[in-house]
Amino acid sequence: MTASPPPGFGVIGNELTIGGQRVSQLARIAGGTPFYAYDRGAVSARIAALRAALPAGVALRYSLKANPMAALLAHMAPLVDGFDAASASELRAGLAAGMAPAALSIAGPGKSPADILSAVAAGALVVVESLAEVGRVAQAGNASGLRPRVLVRVNPEAEIQGAGLRMGGGARPFGIDADQVPGVLAAIAAHDLDYQGLHCFWGSQALDAERIARAFAVVGQTLLGLASPRPPRQIIIGGGFGIPYTPTSAPLDLARAGAAVAETAGLLGDHLPGVSLGLELGRFLVGEAGVYVCAIRESKRSRGNLFLVTDGGLHHNQAATGNFGQVVRRPYPLVIATRMGEPVSERATITGCLCTPLDVFAEALAIPAAAEGDLVAIFQSGAYGASASPSAFLGHPPAVELLV
Ligand SMILES: *Cc1c(COP(=O)(O)O)cnc(C)c1O
Repeated sequence: MTASPPPGFGVIGNELTIGGQRVSQLARIAGGTPFYAYDRGAVSARIAALRAALPAGVALRYSLKANPMAALLAHMAPLVDGFDAASASELRAGLAAGMAPAALSIAGPGKSPADILSAVAAGALVVVESLAEVGRVAQAGNASGLRPRVLVRVNPEAEIQGAGLRMGGGARPFGIDADQVPGVLAAIAAHDLDYQGLHCFWGSQALDAERIARAFAVVGQTLLGLASPRPPRQIIIGGGFGIPYTPTSAPLDLARAGAAVAETAGLLGDHLPGVSLGLELGRFLVGEAGVYVCAIRESKRSRGNLFLVTDGGLHHNQAATGNFGQVVRRPYPLVIATRMGEPVSERATITGCLCTPLDVFAEALAIPAAAEGDLVAIFQSGAYGASASPSAFLGHPPAVELLV
């Protein structure tokens, strides 16, 4: 048995290629290991496949927090219809990448007055998540002499099942309970804010298209119930499309997920003619396009077990060790990237270089014989990698990021 790379990656000789380039060459370009490489062609292809599966006219928005690398954002700005920021700094990154200010939004609980002012001054949409925030947005409007554009983030009543991470339904710090929304809409009118519509983010990392369909149906019904007396001009129905992080999980059925969006778009469009619908996605657009590459620094045995200690670690890629946003620890798929096609001959535990038992990329994994200097490629690392890891932990330098 030999390890083969996931779809979209190639092999030249015994080396993995990313965006057509051999990993060892990328390591030289990066100035060494560890590094991240994001394949721009893979991002473009993913967006094109998604567009093909979605009904025409549904806006595709990218959640910057999944991966805010500047060059990646500049690549994506012309390919998507909007960027969703979670902070003023992400908002500025979106502006710098060339996204039109009106196509930017800022969301999240507990936005600071400075975050809100920055968004209002830029002309971005503010996704309000509480009644108190409406007042802060109005203040920012007064300070900047602009009429703030707002969306209301709705927390549906019922918990929505089927997402790896549930972020809507039941008691949540995110959004506004559906039954409180009418009061918030009245406050928006009283402050004469520019009400643009509704937003619902029900969850993340869903791989089952049938469950996504059920979630969108709940969202559609909930938002329809809040559409009068002031009809929304735009509605963001969430996203939630997941990617397979383990060899045993099947990828999302994109055709079925696209059909689910079409059903909800049909329902909302029938009752709210002219409403524009948007989908916001992070990991689905960039997660599978990214690889984290580190080098084996040491090969050692302990009580008969082989340990390959790399120069990487959870300080760069915490999620890859299964310690970020996961209930059950599931490390990401990886290969010995300089031993592709070679027969599997041993089992090894592959660790990072941090002095914590959490810093493990793979346990007792069957691999070809590998030695110091061989490169390890960890897939599914394009989202929630560099920016979502505790980079200050132990004080090692950050990983270089390449867009290839
Ligand atoms: C994080 C986030 C997303 C993106 O989630 P993914 O799982 O990366 O697709 C979308 N919308 C909101 C409001 C978010 O906070």
